[in-house]
Amino acid sequence: PYTGPSSEEIMTKRKEFLSPSLFHFYKKPLNVVDGKMQYLFDENGRRYLDAFGGIATVCCGHCHPDIIDSIVNQIKRLQHSTVLYLNHAIADFAEALASKMPGNLKVVFFTNSGTEANELAMMIARLYTGSHDIISLRNAYHGNAAGTMGATAQSIWKFNVIQSGVHHALNPDPYRGVFGSDGEKYAKDVQDIINFGTSGHVAGFISEAIQGVGGIIELAAGYLPAVYKSIKNAGGLCIADEVQAGFARTGSHFWGFESQGVVPDIVTMAKGIGNGIPLGAVVTTPEIAEVLTRRSYFNTFGGNPVCTAAGLAVLKVIEKEKLQENAFVVGTYLKKRLTELKDKYEIIGDVRGKGLMLGVELVTDHQHKTPAKNETLHIMDQMKEMGVLVGKGGFYGNVFRITPPLCFTKEDADFFVDVMDYTMSKM
Ligand code: PMP
Repeated sequence: PYTGPSSEEIMTKRKEFLSPSLFHFYKKPLNVVDGKMQYLFDENGRRYLDAFGGIATVCCGHCHPDIIDSIVNQIKRLQHSTVLYLNHAIADFAEALASKMPGNLKVVFFTNSGTEANELAMMIARLYTGSHDIISLRNAYHGNAAGTMGATAQSIWKFNVIQSGVHHALNPDPYRGVFGSDGEKYAKDVQDIINFGTSGHVAGFISEAIQGVGGIIELAAGYLPAVYKSIKNAGGLCIADEVQAGFARTGSHFWGFESQGVVPDIVTMAKGIGNGIPLGAVVTTPEIAEVLTRRSYFNTFGGNPVCTAAGLAVLKVIEKEKLQENAFVVGTYLKKRLTELKDKYEIIGDVRGKGLMLGVELVTDHQHKTPAKNETLHIMDQMKEMGVLVGKGGFYGNVFRITPPLCFTKEDADFFVDVMDYTMSKM
């Protein structure tokens, strides 16, 4: 049993010693003390089904035994900086990761986070092309350092940041966007930005395949092929941010961009890559990777032995436990059940996403799509009381983000939907 400090004591310490910007979910915040696969346990040993943590960290499940073994074995043997000496862990994981990539994407740079990965990707694009302008999507989240905060395009995540050559294109959002689900129409806006907002040459384009923080928005079909063509013609590189949609989550494919049939020039990843261990990566082609030899590029911990041992174990677990197939089968089933719920409750405006990256958007009326923000918070709180944790996101804070560990079962999906159903029926 847990004998540590209570929620109240932790809150007191947080208030006094931690940044006032730290936020937490729930009116009565949850003190999680143990995790096992798709479950979390609070200080009283109460179990919660975790339908959100899969994105935050644990693609394979909390405290997955194989991954823990790999981490512990490596840390008992050696933990060190990445650079200076040889070690097999980083080379083994780079090779395994490269084997999951299409085309000639086979050179890996490791970082400690998604922000760092995207900062590096944008710098590489600028170096390689000799251009500065980068196009990203409105509603995107790419990180919180100077460059990536510029690429991020939701006011809530932006401080007084210098945009530094980033232009934000119309978001190809099938639910709220002006062109509905016609991807090619939105893509024209990127060409317009190139024509009217730049010299005609750009460094690149960066986007997620399914916006995560933005509220599980799947880019309209046909969007990426058209945009990649415009960017290529303008001399730029295409960057796919797979921090959330990567690592088998979408079920149909290992990477999110694959469902649009494109091959990026640079792919960035983090979060699920290490099942909770701080790790990020940038993967590109040998030709593009050359630009980093112009100066010394150094990252003390990016790709250190312990983190890369975790990364390799994650890839093995995804394979061994057929987690991509599971994401497809359970995700398809869960989406079907959520769609049925939409027919039952007016408040559900949209159900979307792929595999185990699903979104449920709540609106007070279908015509104006007025965001039901308070209702979202209320349902989230009530679901927690019944033992289910779900995420939320979207610019208006009215979208449930359902992104569980990939070991989520059909029974978990049923429990999740039944709890959501019951909660909505009581409103
Ligand atoms: N890209 C995407 C798509 C993300 O969702 C996030 C984090 N929410 C990041 C980049 C930044 O990752 P990190 O928090 O590890 O810096």
